[in-house]
Amino acid sequence: MALIVQKFGGSSVANAERVNNVAGIVTDAYRAGNDVVVVVSAQGDTTDDLIEKANEINPKASKREMDMLLTSGEQISIALLAMAIERLGCPVVSRLGWQAGFSTSSAYGMARIKSVKTDRLRAEIDRHNIVVVAGFQGLNKYDDLTTLGRGGSDTSAVALAAALHADRCQIFTDVEGVFTADPRKVENAKKLKEITYDEMLELATLGAQVLNNRSVEMAKKYNVEIEVLSSLKRVPGTIVKEVAKMEKMLVRGVTKDTDVARISVKSIPNNPGVAFRLFSKLAQKKINVDIILQSVGRDDTKDISFTVSKANAEEAAAAVRDTFDIDDKNIVCDTAVAKISVVGAGMESHPGTASKMFEALYEHDINIDMIATSEIKISVLIDAKDADRAVAAVHRAFFPAE
Ligand code: ASP
Ligand code: MG
Repeated sequence: MALIVQKFGGSSVANAERVNNVAGIVTDAYRAGNDVVVVVSAQGDTTDDLIEKANEINPKASKREMDMLLTSGEQISIALLAMAIERLGCPVVSRLGWQAGFSTSSAYGMARIKSVKTDRLRAEIDRHNIVVVAGFQGLNKYDDLTTLGRGGSDTSAVALAAALHADRCQIFTDVEGVFTADPRKVENAKKLKEITYDEMLELATLGAQVLNNRSVEMAKKYNVEIEVLSSLKRVPGTIVKEVAKMEKMLVRGVTKDTDVARISVKSIPNNPGVAFRLFSKLAQKKINVDIILQSVGRDDTKDISFTVSKANAEEAAAAVRDTFDIDDKNIVCDTAVAKISVVGAGMESHPGTASKMFEALYEHDINIDMIATSEIKISVLIDAKDADRAVAAVHRAFFPAE
């Protein structure tokens, strides 16, 4: 007999039929002899709809009242799911975040989980009840309801699995798992059997929206193995776990990020402190810089290029203008770019990953603007119009068709 934490996202409980489907998955696990604790998100677009309702009344509503409102979405889900489980004849009890022992920091709208006091949950489990817990929420030191930030239910589930020392943490979603590339766009994209926490974090920041980042960080910290799987198709999903327990794959996935803009500055003075001046100004404005490229100086001048998210492009270009006394024609802001990345923990110990990626791009006549590497990732910046072709070509190079 195992203790399983199962989490279901908003799309998995979007309507009565889906709620009944989830109740079927939960009761099957229970009837197989397991203890089951379930974490659910608000149904479908409920959270967005609640935010819109608030905006109609007061776009500047306090964060405390926003949390009071938003936590209601999950309250609806837990009650409905518990009712569906009751109807299937299994003992069940629903619990709001605070009733399940979630204490958080006081930061409304972006609270951090401080502790999960599990004695009440334990008592319910010992009584052989299925427990359905509201994700995304907790209680702060003022006894006020808080939320964990958008997509926070994944983190609730992982925290609960860690606190209960659960044998398994299953995150059910509307995709079958984590793929080597976006399966809707790339022919031959394969579902991964497993992936490391670090690879998952890279893929998540690069736009593979399967798991919330913070949940992966927490899973890594507490060594919680996560299984990502579909609530609609009963097939094995992808396991996210510690690197030591798995074969390092050279490349685990290929991703595209189109939320990028490139700012280039030409002919700035070739003096010490120039980069410092520019990037400290960007930091002051809280603009996150991704890839940075600086040319070797010549004739007393040098060039610097860097990338930011599209939303920050204008402000970043303005910061460049403020920092340097140069002609506007020397500043270029290009938003028609995309970042293509390969991610894999195995590349640390395998030379040649970069050249294989560059060869695939060269063979398709795709020009590289910028390159950045980390221990487990290689990213290139290219023309946005080439992005899909580039992903397909690079994917084919690392995952040839069988
Ligand atoms: N319902 C919340 C949201 O939509 C939490 C979640 O879905 O994980 O952000
Ligand atoms: Mg949601």
